[in-house]
Amino acid sequence: MHDTTKNKAIFFDRDGIINRRKIGGYITTTEEFVFIPDFFTVFAYAIHKNYIPIVITNQQGIGKGLMTIHDLRRIHTHMQQHIRLATGADFDDIRFCTSLAQDNDQRRKPNPGMITESIQQWNINPQQSWMIGDSQSDIIAAQAAGVRTIYIGNSQDLTITTADHIFATMSELNENLHRIIE
Ligand SMILES: [Mg+2]
Repeated sequence: MHDTTKNKAIFFDRDGIINRRKIGGYITTTEEFVFIPDFFTVFAYAIHKNYIPIVITNQQGIGKGLMTIHDLRRIHTHMQQHIRLATGADFDDIRFCTSLAQDNDQRRKPNPGMITESIQQWNINPQQSWMIGDSQSDIIAAQAAGVRTIYIGNSQDLTITTADHIFATMSELNENLHRIIE
């Protein structure tokens, strides 16, 4: 039975889900931020189904000194403007962790800290929520927070993931959205 006193959310990883990954580097400018076209349909569907859309992203490029928080905020402002233009809505919340991998910060994926903070702040029922990510760390973090998972990745990764649903691309998720996200 659905708990109507709580909200539901879709947590989106950023790089590889909203925008194309930059192989071997970090997105440090708006010019490098290239949307994945199928993201917009997935986002619009989330809004239509009353999910709170939230970004959960590791950004250790800041911890490494390769970019600043100001750079990141500029990229996210640009991102939000484009999503609003395309869909009429934008993300309610953008959570990022700038810590280095070796810091083992509880907020940094695969740890669930950013997701559990969101669950508290937005009064979210994790069991009615989803995480969409393209790394095993997205899936591990979401599962630790009790959130259902959709993994976007290539067949090599399929053997290691324990996600509830697996699709090769955002386009493939798009084709199956109505079937899996109620
Ligand atoms: Mg990613």
